[in-house]
Amino acid sequence: MALHLVMLGPPGAGKGTQAERLAREFGIPRISTGDILREAIQSGSDLGRAVQAVMARGELVGDDLIVGIVRERLSRPGAAGGFVLDGFPRTVPQAEALDALMAGRPDPVVVVDLAVPDEELVRRVRARRVCADCGANADAFGDGASRVPPACRAPERCGAEGPRWVARADDAEAVVRERLAVYRRESRPLIDFYRGRPAFRAVDGRHAPEQVREAIVAAVAAAGVRPGQGRTPGGEEATA
Ligand code: AMP
Repeated sequence: MALHLVMLGPPGAGKGTQAERLAREFGIPRISTGDILREAIQSGSDLGRAVQAVMARGELVGDDLIVGIVRERLSRPGAAGGFVLDGFPRTVPQAEALDALMAGRPDPVVVVDLAVPDEELVRRVRARRVCADCGANADAFGDGASRVPPACRAPERCGAEGPRWVARADDAEAVVRERLAVYRRESRPLIDFYRGRPAFRAVDGRHAPEQVREAIVAAVAAAGVRPGQGRTPGGEEATA
């Protein structure tokens, strides 16, 4: 049974940290649209040039562009057995597009909304540090390790000397305020979009990462999803 997990929540709620852990735990890819865009900017590709200014202002890049990126990632063989989406969908049209992309997949999308109060979000984002070379979050595995990126994504680039921890450019205070405003306007309506579905869960994101992880794993189980196994009793049979 495939786990299709969507992490909703404002910037700083812990989506990336949790997505990274759960993807590793369940052996499925984490698809972070923010990471994909940051990598494109770093590599100087056409995509990177197209999105750089928009991201620097804390605004959202266009739905069509993002949906195209996600469509391509979901079509990769590595995503056939499930995935964790981190940072997508962020608008109702993106969520509708995801429903369309999921049409051929029998297992449900489990949607987890990580709720954290604004003051705590601003505090967390101010404190957030990522590896300048691979983008891994210093807190991804909870230890804030200072020598080797705990979730290093490019050991060939940042292994030997250890990570150079830096703040993300769009974590500057003014940009964070704009990102929170964009979240309220564009992304919060997603909660209403998903709320009525059986596989939607709100999770209190104020707790320590391990507690939040447990709550998400419980949400996955409550949705009847057993990653890597057939459906639970009472559910439909898994299709081959
Ligand atoms: P994140 O790393 O998820 O906080 O994303 C960083 C930035 O990338 C956002 O502030 C947006 O500018 C852009 N971005 C990431 N995901 C999306 C998305 N699904 N839709 C539109 N813009 C996005």
